[in-house]
Amino acid sequence: MTNSDSHPSLATARQRQTCRLCHSRDLELVLPLSPTPVAEKYLDHPANADQVPVYPLDLFMCRRCGHVQLLHIIDPEFLYRDFNYRSAGTPALVRHFDETAEMLASHYHFSGSPLVVDIGSNDGSLLRCFQSRGFRVLGVDPAREIAAEASAAGILTLPEFLTPCVVEQISKEHGPASIVCAFNVFAHTDDLEGMTACIRDLLAPDGIFVFECSYLGDILEKMLLGTIFHEHLSHHSLTPLASFLLRLGLELVDVRRNAIQGGSIIGIAKKIGGAHHEFPAVREMLTQEKLAGLATPDTVRRFGHSLASAAARLSAFTQQQQSNNRRFWGFGAARSGTTLIAQLGLGKIIERIVDDNPAKQGKFTPLHAIPVVPTPLLYKEMPDFTLILAWIHSDTIIAAHKAYLQAGGKFITCFPEPKIIGNDGAILL
Ligand SMILES: [Zn+2]
Repeated sequence: MTNSDSHPSLATARQRQTCRLCHSRDLELVLPLSPTPVAEKYLDHPANADQVPVYPLDLFMCRRCGHVQLLHIIDPEFLYRDFNYRSAGTPALVRHFDETAEMLASHYHFSGSPLVVDIGSNDGSLLRCFQSRGFRVLGVDPAREIAAEASAAGILTLPEFLTPCVVEQISKEHGPASIVCAFNVFAHTDDLEGMTACIRDLLAPDGIFVFECSYLGDILEKMLLGTIFHEHLSHHSLTPLASFLLRLGLELVDVRRNAIQGGSIIGIAKKIGGAHHEFPAVREMLTQEKLAGLATPDTVRRFGHSLASAAARLSAFTQQQQSNNRRFWGFGAARSGTTLIAQLGLGKIIERIVDDNPAKQGKFTPLHAIPVVPTPLLYKEMPDFTLILAWIHSDTIIAAHKAYLQAGGKFITCFPEPKIIGNDGAILL
């Protein structure tokens, strides 16, 4: 496929044939999913929405190292150059960054004037937490507009993808890094080996590499279907990552689980032979993953069976209700919404999607051209059921819209089990 001016959602895509972590060709399809459009790209006009291209979303497991991954890759230039999400708009994320910076500053000590480099630094929200603790900071992010804004606001940010040339430039102009961060980019990168080699080369001999990514264990435990979309090329677990990092000259010294984004891990690695000691959490998590069978294809297959069962129950319910002229809306024009609509067959069920964000209002979903409308319309039109598509924010949305429930509306949450929430409480489907 090639880029085209004729349709703004047409991206270049390709398929890799080998494991992203260990190069094995022994890859097994463990979660077949319906192909979907690129999740983030809602449309300005409804015309030709049904012609928006879809791309495979199947998950494969490497039978050599256990890594779970998408093999179909959308061109990162298409996904990230015009990326317009800003971390500062999510206060819970900024608090999480601050707690992480505090944890790192108190556990790891560096001499001189230590430098922190953040890969995929977005608006500089994480780096600001280090800057206020006396670190020198430098961001790297290909989203040109956001990078320029961050630099203007005092967090110098290179508007680039991380490449050996950029590493050379940083090393020459700023010296080696004591900390390199990669938060929420370690799952988004196809060439993880190239990125990790660049990170290792940025590090001082006693430096640490800190990454955060969503965690396969949480996805399987909590049925987090909404976190599977094309930007998330990898669904990491620690066992394959530990071997991968070792091969690239890095060894894990700590790992922590967090509740953010449904469930993530923060991993901390040092250069092999570096000064920092290993915390017991690394061995403990590796043991837990073995016990849970996280690197076993059948474990992910069971997740697929549970998803299919939930989708079937939801479908039976919506069909029955629609035959009684009940109306369904959605809440949240999030990336996860594109996945949920496609995998649960909701495209012809949901009439409108409400969203608080003015930037999303007036847009249309790809394929089914479902209009995104301001939240007050929910109260004016009072649909019978509102499916929460922004699954991460379910509790917040329900708490903020008790009046909708009091007026007779009902929310539906899809996972871990499809559930209808009314003014009198919740029932499972
Ligand atoms: Zn592998």
